[in-house]
Amino acid sequence: MLTASIAQLSEALRSRRLSCVELARALLDRIETLGASLNAFVTVDRAGALKQAEAADARHAAGNAGALTGIPIAHKDVLMTAGLRTTCGSRMLENFVAPYSAFVVEKLAQAGMVLVGKTNMDEFAMGSSSENSYFGPVRNPWNTALVPGGSSGGSAAAVAARLIPAATGTDTGGSIRQPAALSGVCGLKPTYGVCSRYGLIAFASSLDTPGVFAQTAEDCALLLTAMAGHDARDSTSLDRPAEDYARDLARPLTGLRIGLPKEYFGEGTEPGILRAIEQALIELTKLGATTIDVSLPNVKLSVPVYYVIAPAEASSNLSRFDGVRYGHRAKQYADLLDMYKKTRAEGFGAEVKRRILVGTYVLSHGYYDAYYLKAQQVRRLIAEDFQRVYESCDVIIGPTSPTTAFPIGDKTDDPVKMYLNDIFTIAGNLTGAPGISIPCGFDEKGLPVGMLIQGNHFREARILGVAHQYQRVTDWHRRVPVTFD
Ligand code: GLN
Repeated sequence: MLTASIAQLSEALRSRRLSCVELARALLDRIETLGASLNAFVTVDRAGALKQAEAADARHAAGNAGALTGIPIAHKDVLMTAGLRTTCGSRMLENFVAPYSAFVVEKLAQAGMVLVGKTNMDEFAMGSSSENSYFGPVRNPWNTALVPGGSSGGSAAAVAARLIPAATGTDTGGSIRQPAALSGVCGLKPTYGVCSRYGLIAFASSLDTPGVFAQTAEDCALLLTAMAGHDARDSTSLDRPAEDYARDLARPLTGLRIGLPKEYFGEGTEPGILRAIEQALIELTKLGATTIDVSLPNVKLSVPVYYVIAPAEASSNLSRFDGVRYGHRAKQYADLLDMYKKTRAEGFGAEVKRRILVGTYVLSHGYYDAYYLKAQQVRRLIAEDFQRVYESCDVIIGPTSPTTAFPIGDKTDDPVKMYLNDIFTIAGNLTGAPGISIPCGFDEKGLPVGMLIQGNHFREARILGVAHQYQRVTDWHRRVPVTFD
């Protein structure tokens, strides 16, 4: 029962076969014992979780519980949680306790979800492997010598090991979808602006997108329905009517047009991954879908464009960590400038410093037009490629990542190799459109493969529906790593 999906747990809580306190306690024990080897959590809040679980039981008893009331959740440690430490995986914020909660944290709490703890991540969400954390690397539950993907690796690993039925993440270039693929779970990145960024510690503001991890597309739909919504405190939050993201789950795939970009099926992707995706496409066509070959000629420029725009925005956002306003401050310094320098030298890790250097350079006078402005122009061309493709198809499908999980330490000395992990996901952030990665098989090493289903802006319900129909006829999403079964 413990390892069940949200929909199943919700049923057990509603019928009172299981109490919210029993569920919370059992999962807290599981995190403490079974979870210890993964380093997926930075903070576990046993006392707080049990108190919230009691309140959720009271809501069930009073008859005003919803589908998520009493369901435990963990939040990526980039999302602020009032009264509970928020580290962002950094020494800079090692002891930072946020004065308020992120919008999405508040929304999920209002739905009655029980916050169990904060998950480990790459420092300031910069990375694709969750090795850049000040708190040490996260390990992949399928093989603890491997990375779980990143930057939301703690959330992905925790859901994969069934330590928690749901976890939040943030996706700036792939940080939900890529770890979902490498860890064998579902990871949904909604349209930019659908979930407020208020209280999400900023990395690259025009790309940062809160989203979720869960076992099934159905669960992702439930979570997104609860966490979406307009919020005046984020100027890019969209004011749109509320949606039920589960509305297309039962919709048949008859007539669905799937675009297959040739750029997603070329060299550079492991053959085991391509085989699994081809199998999945056969399943989808059996369900009534048709496939169309398409091309996204500019998508190959996504990685270079991203590594101008994201560092530029990061260098500006991270200037707030100056030793005065938040977190760490160097103990010894000569004067104000020296205090800034020592604080930032001590507080930030190597990858964060690399991004700040690159970002400051591309924004500097004389280089702005050549790099930042040019990158924004190419970003537009990439977006136009997608709009053209969506004239002839409903969704775009391909691999989420060119490789399955790789050994810890394998790519840490070669940043460009690490950056190429997100080659299929970054375009979704540059355009702002939604995508979900779902498990679709295993490679010859027995490692999970993720399939990326992308849709045009605001097509979350449709891509969730496609994922759900696929999950009705396959069971990849139910496979659990042996040690955690
Ligand atoms: N791996 C990418 C990076 O390092 C994306 C990270 C993310 O989505 N937060 O920037």
